[in-house]
Amino acid sequence: MITLQNYINGELIAPVSGAYLSNTNPATGEVFSECPDSDERDVDLAYVAAENAFEQWSNTPAEKRGRIMLKISELLERDLQLFAEAETTDQGKPLWLSKNGEIPRAISNIRFFGTAIEHFSSEAHPMGNHAINYTLRSPIGVVGCISPWNLPLYLFTWKIAPALATGNCVVAKPSEITPYTAYLFSKICIEAGLPPGVLNIVHGLGHKVGSAITSHPSIKAISFTGGTKTGAEIAKVAAPMFKKLSLELGGKNPNIIFADCDFEAMLAETVRSSFLNQGEICLCGSRIFIERSIYDKFKSAFVEKVKTELVVGDPMNPKTKTGAIVSKAHFEKVLSYIELAKQEGGTVLCGGEVVKPDGVCANGWFIAPTIIEGLPYTCRTNQEEIFGPVVTLSPFDTEEEVLKMANSTEYGLAATIWTQDVTKAHRVAQLVKSGIVWINCWLLRDLRTPFGGVKSSGVGREGGLEALRFFTEAKNICVKL
Ligand code: NAD
Repeated sequence: MITLQNYINGELIAPVSGAYLSNTNPATGEVFSECPDSDERDVDLAYVAAENAFEQWSNTPAEKRGRIMLKISELLERDLQLFAEAETTDQGKPLWLSKNGEIPRAISNIRFFGTAIEHFSSEAHPMGNHAINYTLRSPIGVVGCISPWNLPLYLFTWKIAPALATGNCVVAKPSEITPYTAYLFSKICIEAGLPPGVLNIVHGLGHKVGSAITSHPSIKAISFTGGTKTGAEIAKVAAPMFKKLSLELGGKNPNIIFADCDFEAMLAETVRSSFLNQGEICLCGSRIFIERSIYDKFKSAFVEKVKTELVVGDPMNPKTKTGAIVSKAHFEKVLSYIELAKQEGGTVLCGGEVVKPDGVCANGWFIAPTIIEGLPYTCRTNQEEIFGPVVTLSPFDTEEEVLKMANSTEYGLAATIWTQDVTKAHRVAQLVKSGIVWINCWLLRDLRTPFGGVKSSGVGREGGLEALRFFTEAKNICVKL
């Protein structure tokens, strides 16, 4: 049994309560670690440590802050295998994905913002020869970063890296469902020489630790990634306190496939965009709209490919393409949506059932990749976020019709468009209501680009300059000449 600890003021310590939460390996159903069940007392300790560290950290030259961050990224790279195994054990995703996707991206996040800060600058607005304005961008102070369970270290570092690079001190909370890699990360921060208090990681439940961070009167900005309902709760608490808020929330993303697409490229990528990470990526395309003339061809090729290629089972096995669902509660939620889809008149073309692998994973939470057709675009299955290995297929005849269906949900995070017609691609991309559009690709990420959603998918943007600006307060200084 591994006992995780909070990282406060540069030290690994037990929660004040002395209580722990059981942390389960979703592939085996066995508890493998215990996670601090912290509360507002731990958040207070973390806040005080961060506040005490702020003056020195914010005055440390950007280059020096960046150098410490680069050291952290190097140590993460050194321990890639350890971190990848930890992430897979905790989250259920295949080991190859942790090793080639998740952890390398966490390394890139730290490296990207650790170097970006040296190139960060602000604006000047001259008023002829009367005056000049310049924008001073200063760190905010102590900020809160709260992250979810689907891409644990990837999203945790995506938030804390720009916060630290800009000179803030951080109180961070990873998901209580997947706390393991954030704990290992705190050890690396100590080894890299990150000054005590600059980053504090408090483990525990959302309604205890998360809400203690969001309601803390002196934590001035909150960067949150998670569900839309939680985002609304956070906004309700933080808005009257006039905190800066960045909310990256749920999605129900359309994947729009026109008949003139490169069929083979589209097919291969659609398998990925539907089911990578068990469909537990906020950017997965869960509603697939196919132009009617290729609907049958697509349906049979897609079902065949998913059935033959997406081997479900032990995430540690290199042949596995689809690992375990992150928790028992989420497993049951996904299954309940498959039942709902049937009640709503859907036909399950493949999957839909629980998979029970032989051996060590016999008690894990596995669901076969599921493809459903025959549902109206307005039904709950097509409107609500399932966040698992479940997609629906719907035919369309015209651009107007597909845009109406694509834009019909409360969400607006990402969309994918497949066509060889450049004009049509740009036209549809402009009309889809989402923060991100991929044309003839999916999840192709440049860390400099703005990232985030519209409607109930969130408020604000992360990535590149957007993140550096979010974590700084802009002051205009006007000098009369
Ligand atoms: P969640 O909202 O349940 O939890 C996210 C984090 O918030 C966790 O650390 C949790 O402990 C904490 N939390 C819970 N209640 C809180 C409260 N009242 N106050 C403060 N913090 C609280 O989300 P989840 O189930 O962990 O993650 C899945 C969701 O995240 C999905 O909806 C998915 O679409 C979304 N997501 C969005 C993005 C994006 O970039 N837009 C990326 C990944 C995941």
